[in-house]
Amino acid sequence: MNYHIAVIPGDGIGPEIVREACKVMDRAGQVFGHQFTYTEVLMGGCSIDAHGVPLTEEALETARKSDSVLLGAVGGNVGNSRWYDVAPNLRPEAGLLAMRKGLNLFANIRPAYLYPELADACPLKREVAGDGFDMVIMRELTGGLYFGKRHTEEVDGVLTAVDTLTYNENEIRRIAVKAFDTAMKRRKKVISVDKANVLDSSRLWRKVVEEVAKDYPEVSLSHMLVDNCAMQLVMNPGQFDVILTENMFGDILSDEASMITGSIGMLSSASMNEGKFGLYEPSHGSAPDIAGKDLANPIATILSSAMMLRYSFDLEKEADAVENAVKQVLAEGYRTADIMVGDGLKEVGCTQMGTLIADRIR
Ligand code: NAD
Repeated sequence: MNYHIAVIPGDGIGPEIVREACKVMDRAGQVFGHQFTYTEVLMGGCSIDAHGVPLTEEALETARKSDSVLLGAVGGNVGNSRWYDVAPNLRPEAGLLAMRKGLNLFANIRPAYLYPELADACPLKREVAGDGFDMVIMRELTGGLYFGKRHTEEVDGVLTAVDTLTYNENEIRRIAVKAFDTAMKRRKKVISVDKANVLDSSRLWRKVVEEVAKDYPEVSLSHMLVDNCAMQLVMNPGQFDVILTENMFGDILSDEASMITGSIGMLSSASMNEGKFGLYEPSHGSAPDIAGKDLANPIATILSSAMMLRYSFDLEKEADAVENAVKQVLAEGYRTADIMVGDGLKEVGCTQMGTLIADRIR
């Protein structure tokens, strides 16, 4: 089958890591009989340089017409770059926000997986990390506190700021469906995280999630308060399979979950619409400090392309093959500089890491 992918290399290390992800996808295509066709799209600082804006309407339209989108990263050196001497809506990162909004990407999926080979990089004690952990955070991305009405005013001479947290049942239902669908492809366990002891929006969240659960009898559902979840992530991370949560809780918990894996260069992510369309990107930024030096770890982007195979194209065995190739290369002792923790390891650059992984796909 032929899949059309809009590829956004972006800025900094973006072009290097995206090149390696495409190398790995092409190898998977060769082995399993698929064709991936790439159309390059400018977004971020490179688009500002070329067109004066971080995302043009044509670039967004190219992404919209594709089967899915692969992104490296956008942005430059925030304190020291001409791209930031402008209004916030003209900065590189504004392109990404416009892309998410323009494509209606409301579901953010971030896996947090501890590779046994990288256990030394995990900040948790060995007895806590146990046999490792393998979870996915399903975060609602376009509602809640970050998008509610807000204002600041003086009330009786005192400056007062108001933010509002709004969710309607449709917004909750569609993200819950994503979480249960994802659980069906995994260990069939959803933990829905809220603050139902305090917030009305959380009580509605719980009610709707329970309704959705009825359509998934094979999936076990439980609820957890967000403060407890923050503790459980560092006390017993192995208990989680799919964590379903709203925008702000997900923002905080997904960063916590990713940090306990200990390696930012390994963390993939996807943002999806109601259907199969998604934007796949590493969780890290454009790392301008190491750009162009062949030092970047391409694994987060390669694992993001595996997510694309699984979630957008339903290519399960192809996604497994990419993930297994990553595991094999790590087991053989190859590391980029950022994950050189331990003895007897072989340091490689971004390009070689991509080649090693591609070569192990079979
Ligand atoms: P960053 O994630 O780019 O870098 C943080 C640190 O991690 C740096 O030391 C960097 O060298 C290292 N690092 C990151 N990815 C790595 C990789 N794949 N391999 C090896 N080391 C890696 O975060 P930052 O420095 O805060 O931000 C840099 C720029 O990226 C800023 O302009 C920021 O706005 C942008 N940013 C973009 C995105 C995105 O495009 N989605 C996300 C976050 C930050």
